[in-house]
Amino acid sequence: MAHEIAVIPGDGIGGEVVPAATTVLAETPADFEFVRGDAGDATRAETGAALPEQTRTVAAAADATLFGAAGETAADVILPLREVVGSYANVRPARTYPGVGALAPDADIVFVRENTEGVYAGIESEIADGVRTLTRVTTEAACERIAEFGFTYAAENGYDQVTIAHKANVMRETDGLFLDVARRVGGEHETGYETALMDALATDLVMRPETYGVVICPNLAGDVLSDLAAGLVGGLGLLPSANVGRENALFEPVHGTAPDIAGEGVANPTATVLSAAMLLDHLDHPEVAAAVRGAVETVLAEGPTTPDLGGTATTDEMTNAIVTQMDF
Ligand code: ATP
Repeated sequence: MAHEIAVIPGDGIGGEVVPAATTVLAETPADFEFVRGDAGDATRAETGAALPEQTRTVAAAADATLFGAAGETAADVILPLREVVGSYANVRPARTYPGVGALAPDADIVFVRENTEGVYAGIESEIADGVRTLTRVTTEAACERIAEFGFTYAAENGYDQVTIAHKANVMRETDGLFLDVARRVGGEHETGYETALMDALATDLVMRPETYGVVICPNLAGDVLSDLAAGLVGGLGLLPSANVGRENALFEPVHGTAPDIAGEGVANPTATVLSAAMLLDHLDHPEVAAAVRGAVETVLAEGPTTPDLGGTATTDEMTNAIVTQMDF
């Protein structure tokens, strides 16, 4: 039976890279039915809602969702969408591919980011004129869930090192809990682990990226550190991500709408195509996913590539080259 995929391109280059990824998926032996959903700035301008009810319904009913990016309405789109699919783990692999002139030639780091709470819980207020506050939420249940996910991911995907990122020396209650729980969970797994203060970790990720495997992070730290790693491996155009829940999942590039290049047809489709490969893994098509990744690697090494990687190809040309290289 065909897998039903909710396809939500959103704004900016989302409208260019998501069709690239569905083109790739459609050319695989896996069977898909794509159901389109609208969301983002343009949708809000047209309908009044950044994430219309119909789009929520499409995402909730689908086997998986492929999302692009949203502009100013990002918080009104992606946060509720992650809730709709019940996701709690944001998986962001940052890997160096041969042929890409990356700052870090041998990085293979997977950020496992808690994505339901922390400072992104959305609890902000203006308590007096000129004074605003934000409430950081950390629950034992969410810490345990993300740590368990991270250690299991490491074991299942062949990573022999886990790093727990935190700032428990300053945020003693919230990150103190995160650290305690993650350590306890780590003690129940075979994979070795270390803990790292997130600011020192940022430096060390730049100095010694090849020494890291899976990095388990609170919400904001995971967002920032994975973008830092994107710079190390060749830019935001390369980083895919999965938002995984108990039953459903949403896949999206780490990058946003890239307004500076939107509409020019030169966005790098790699991040979204690799997100589609993660979707294939999730739907139990590991061989197909491996073939897609193999084709991407070949094109990154041999070209044609888009201008962000030093090439002159359009999004369509690079996508077609990936399709041509796929070998099932
Ligand atoms: P947003 O506000 O939606 O997050 P942004 O421009 O602040 O948009 P990103 O979209 O994440 O942030 O991208 C930052 C920059 O990285 C872009 O302006 C663009 O130059 C580059 N970039 C991001 N994604 C791609 C891509 N797929 N292909 C080429 N360049 C990209």
